[in-house]
Amino acid sequence: MNAKSRLTPTSLEQSVLPTGADRLLAGGRLTIDLDALADNWRSLDARSRPGRAAAVVKADAYGCGIAQVVPALTAAGCDSFFVALPEEGLRVRHAAPRARVFVLNGLFDDAAPAFTDADLIPVLGSDHEIAIWAKHGRRKPCAIHVDTGMNRLGLSPGEAIAFAGSAKSVRPVLLMSHLACADTPSSDKSRQQLESFQKVRAAFGDIESSLANSAGIFLGSDYAFDLTRPGIALYGGEAVDGTGSPMKQVVTAETRIVQIRHAAKGETAGYGATTTLARDTRIAVCSTGYADGYPRAASGSGIPLRSTIAEGAHGFIAGQRVPVLGRVTMDLTSFDVTDVPEDAIGIGDHIELFGANIALDDVARAAGTIGYELLTGLGLRYHRRYIGGELVF
Ligand SMILES: *Cc1c(COP(=O)(O)O)cnc(C)c1O
Repeated sequence: MNAKSRLTPTSLEQSVLPTGADRLLAGGRLTIDLDALADNWRSLDARSRPGRAAAVVKADAYGCGIAQVVPALTAAGCDSFFVALPEEGLRVRHAAPRARVFVLNGLFDDAAPAFTDADLIPVLGSDHEIAIWAKHGRRKPCAIHVDTGMNRLGLSPGEAIAFAGSAKSVRPVLLMSHLACADTPSSDKSRQQLESFQKVRAAFGDIESSLANSAGIFLGSDYAFDLTRPGIALYGGEAVDGTGSPMKQVVTAETRIVQIRHAAKGETAGYGATTTLARDTRIAVCSTGYADGYPRAASGSGIPLRSTIAEGAHGFIAGQRVPVLGRVTMDLTSFDVTDVPEDAIGIGDHIELFGANIALDDVARAAGTIGYELLTGLGLRYHRRYIGGELVF
């Protein structure tokens, strides 16, 4: 049946919790906006001219869910996906039967049959992997990864040029490389990598080529080639360090208030008694913690990072930013809500952890990390709901 049905927030609620548990909503809540995601892809695709955009959906689409993200992007017009592992590739194949699915993290001999069975395209980065694909994949499509300066995966430029000049044992359909410093536009490294990539590309003739990740797209059309590989920008994260995100915000994480307590000036709060209250304080104790991927490093006090980054993370409720109070614990995090009018919040209300009011990357910075790590580390206890998105059932 090809009846199109509009997804409502409840029509696609899912979580790993047992059936029936999704009515409880005791823990955190993630809301993922599939329309914003699709808009981001369209805008990155438009910025990828003269090429076009693929989508990087590794790590369960940066924590947003392959099963929902891939159909939403397919509906927007995306036909090529990148994942890290064949396990992820199989999930993308299930969600997008006709798409091209590239697997970035190389090829093990014992995994090769799974690639051929599901038409996954391995990204080959060594002579060893090329030999494996020559044996198992034969003339099935593959991609060649050339390392132009990252020293991570890929043939050296010399090896790639030698391979291009040889009688090829495999059939590459894409030549790709990866930028080390695209998120730092002032670095010379990207231009050096671009020049190295252009030399290798000249040896390969007219197969498709791909260099840019999200930040690479913002370096300009020289970097676009045939196919770009945006990841973080699709999900609304900052692609270029410290510049804010020009993309639509996709993910909202919220936590739920379990108790609101009053504590007097001079008392301490939390593990390690690391916070001595400077005033009479109202504390909202909330039901997510580091087991949900809200980093302990985002604590308000009592962690080594606070000596270099002064402030912990903030939440947002009733129009106000509220600081994390004391240490984030496994299942609970406290916020100082003294400045929020007492009648404006109550037990069971949600405090935004990041979303429209608190930037993902601000929370990441307070924890000494990056938005990527926050998104991909979101735990399994969140109730996930999807809004927007037009899926074909
Ligand atoms: C993860 C990854 C990307 C996506 O990077 P973003 O910075 O998230 O856009 C692109 N290419 C390769 C090879 C990757 O590993």
